[in-house]
Amino acid sequence: MNPVTEALLRWYDENAREMPWRGIRDPYGIWVSEVMLQQTRVDTVRDYYPRFMERFPTLKDLAGAGEEEVLKMWEGLGYYSRARNLQAGARQVMEEYGGRMPETPAELRKIRGIGPYTSCSVASIAFGVPVPAVDGNVIRVICRLYNLAGDPTEAGNRAEIEALAQELVPEDRAGDHNQAVMDLGATVCVPGTPGCDRCPLREMCEGRRSGTAERLPNLPGKKPPREIEYDVVILRSGGRVLLRRREEKMLRGLWCFPMTEGHRSPEKLADDWRRKMGVRPENLQFARAARHVFTHQVWQMSLYTAELPADAPEVPGYVWIPEREVAALPFPTAMKAALETLGRVQEKEN
Ligand code: SF4
Repeated sequence: MNPVTEALLRWYDENAREMPWRGIRDPYGIWVSEVMLQQTRVDTVRDYYPRFMERFPTLKDLAGAGEEEVLKMWEGLGYYSRARNLQAGARQVMEEYGGRMPETPAELRKIRGIGPYTSCSVASIAFGVPVPAVDGNVIRVICRLYNLAGDPTEAGNRAEIEALAQELVPEDRAGDHNQAVMDLGATVCVPGTPGCDRCPLREMCEGRRSGTAERLPNLPGKKPPREIEYDVVILRSGGRVLLRRREEKMLRGLWCFPMTEGHRSPEKLADDWRRKMGVRPENLQFARAARHVFTHQVWQMSLYTAELPADAPEVPGYVWIPEREVAALPFPTAMKAALETLGRVQEKEN
C-alpha cells in the first residue's frame, strides 16, 4: 500500500469524525449526506440529515413526496436546487433502475443531480469501488502534498490531480480512504494555514518541506458577490399576507414576500403598489433593514409593513395566504428578517 494511504488510514481509524451518516452502507443515505454537504458546513448538516432521513427514510419515500414538503425539510440549508435535483434523481432511480441505485460511477452519473464527485463518493463508500472522490478539500491536500503550483481549475492540472488521487486509493478500503482525505482537508490541512504539526502526512509532504503549503492550491481570484438593493413589503389584509412562490432559477419553489429592486421612498413605494393593486396602502411604514449574503449576490433589503382593508383585491403573480398557514410554507433564509417582522406585527395585535 502507498505509504501516504497507509498513514492516512491509520490516522482515520483513530480520528474519524462522528457523523450520523458515517458507517452506513445505504447508497441513498450516503447520497443525501453528500448532497447536503455541498457548500454547507458539517455542523449544519448534522442537524438536518437525521430529520430529513426520518421523514424520507428510503428513496421511495423521497420520490413519492410533494416538492413543497421536500423544500420545507430543506428550509435554511440553502442552494435549494440541490433538494429539487435530489428528488428528481430519486424519481429517476425508481423509474429507470427499479428503485435500486446503480453501483458504478459512470452509471450513477446518469442520475439527475449526481456529478463526478458524488458518483465517486457514493460508489466508493456504499459499494467499495476504488475511485477517488475529488472535491475542494481533496484538491487542496493533493496540491500541497505534491507541491503542485498550477491552477487546479485548468484541465491539464486537474487531470494530474485526479491521477495522483487515484494512485492513493486502496483496493480494499476505498470509502474509508476518501472519507479520510475529506476529514484531513476539513480539520488539519485547512484553507489558509494548515495544521502541519498534527498532520499524519507531514514527513511525506512536499508542500510543507518547501514552505509553499500555505499558498496552495493556486486558485484564480474570486469575483466579489453583486450587491442588490430590494424593498420588501409585508402586506396584510384581513388575516392574510401577500406572498409569491418564486419561479426564478434562484430559490425556485420557495415563498417570498413581495420584493422590488432598488430603494424608494415610502410614498413612491405606496404609489407603486396602488398601480399594481388598484388600492393604495396608506400606512406603509419602514420596519427595518436586513442583509443576506449568498455566494454570488448580497441582498440589501429595506423591510416595510402595510395593512390593507379586508377586501383587498387579488394581485397578479401573488397569492393572499392566511397568516396561520405561513409557518408551513418553505421560505429561504433571506426572508428570516421579514418573517420576524411579520411575527412582531402579529404579536402587537394580540
Ligand atoms: Fe497539509 Fe501540512 Fe499535512 Fe502537508 S503536512 S498535507 S500541508 S497539513
